[in-house]
Amino acid sequence: MPELRKDPITGRWVIISTDRAKRPTDFSREGMKLKGGFCPFCYGNETKTPPEVLAYRPSKNGGPSPQRDSPGWNLRVVPNKFPALGIEGGLARQAEGMFDKMNGIGAHEVIIETPEHDKTLATIPDKRVEDVFWAFRDRILDLKQDKRFKYILIFKNHGEPAGASLEHPHSQLIALPILPKQVIEELEGSKQYFVYKERCVFCDIIRQEIENPIRVVAENSDFVTLAPYAPRFPFETWILPKRHESSFENSPTHVYESLAKAVKLLLQKADGVLDNPAYNLVIHTSPVQDPSSDHYHWHIEFMPKLTKTAGFEWGTGFYINPTPPEEAARFLREADVSQPSAPAVQPVPA
Ligand SMILES: [Zn+2]
Ligand SMILES: [Zn+2]
Ligand SMILES: [Zn+2]
Repeated sequence: MPELRKDPITGRWVIISTDRAKRPTDFSREGMKLKGGFCPFCYGNETKTPPEVLAYRPSKNGGPSPQRDSPGWNLRVVPNKFPALGIEGGLARQAEGMFDKMNGIGAHEVIIETPEHDKTLATIPDKRVEDVFWAFRDRILDLKQDKRFKYILIFKNHGEPAGASLEHPHSQLIALPILPKQVIEELEGSKQYFVYKERCVFCDIIRQEIENPIRVVAENSDFVTLAPYAPRFPFETWILPKRHESSFENSPTHVYESLAKAVKLLLQKADGVLDNPAYNLVIHTSPVQDPSSDHYHWHIEFMPKLTKTAGFEWGTGFYINPTPPEEAARFLREADVSQPSAPAVQPVPA
């Protein structure tokens, strides 16, 4: 019997099919292959991107750091060459009869995570993964000074099926003058729960899931990685800080180190279990202009691209998930990442 399950934060229902449960090998996909060709994110091509807004460049033997927009960086942040939104101007919110519009103001940046074209967040050293999260924080702290922006979304499209147009490892940041609908649903749902119970719904989830860890994938001192009770997608996984914090950028220093470890471990496990899947990863955090809150709790959502969204989902806004989260969690939990698996991406034939 399939099950209807309700997400306790948003109230969204999902259908979990239990009798035709899909195992990792049931998802047939093309393996990720590197296409090669010219890459604007590789060393030596720094002038092919807009000028960098941030870069981490280790100085060699105490000497001067390498020049801006030249090789020698470990991580580089640049404006998107084809931004979804423009940075200049005012919002000029206005009505067009009964319709509302405003100028498409926003920031759209690309975080180039490593100079190594054929690596991934699962295969670069922990410290490099940590740098990626420091870069997210640095950019949020800078952009939140711009009061036009209400929300900063950081996300990652990995692999062409997940929407990545360039294969070089990168994440993206979009600062928006409005709150995204999905975030509003989470904010309102967690607020309601708090009004009713005087507790954070995410903290409650963490407590209950750790107590009976059938949906827990992994845990370290600061984070728990789990399959949510009502996931929309097979192998959807969340990473939550154990200590309550509403904003990603307000976390204490040591948290970014633990976060890097948690994210890398999940990606390694997913690579092993799902054979290097394409995926989307998003950071959900508080609106930038909001003060710290007791009811919202920042987190990461990881969604491997294994199924396609079809008519039923578009028509109803709820989802059919062919893999129960208890099974997805078990596969990921039991995945052994101590043995390096096949290379995450097939190298380009010479
Ligand atoms: Zn490259
Ligand atoms: Zn909380
Ligand atoms: Zn979320």
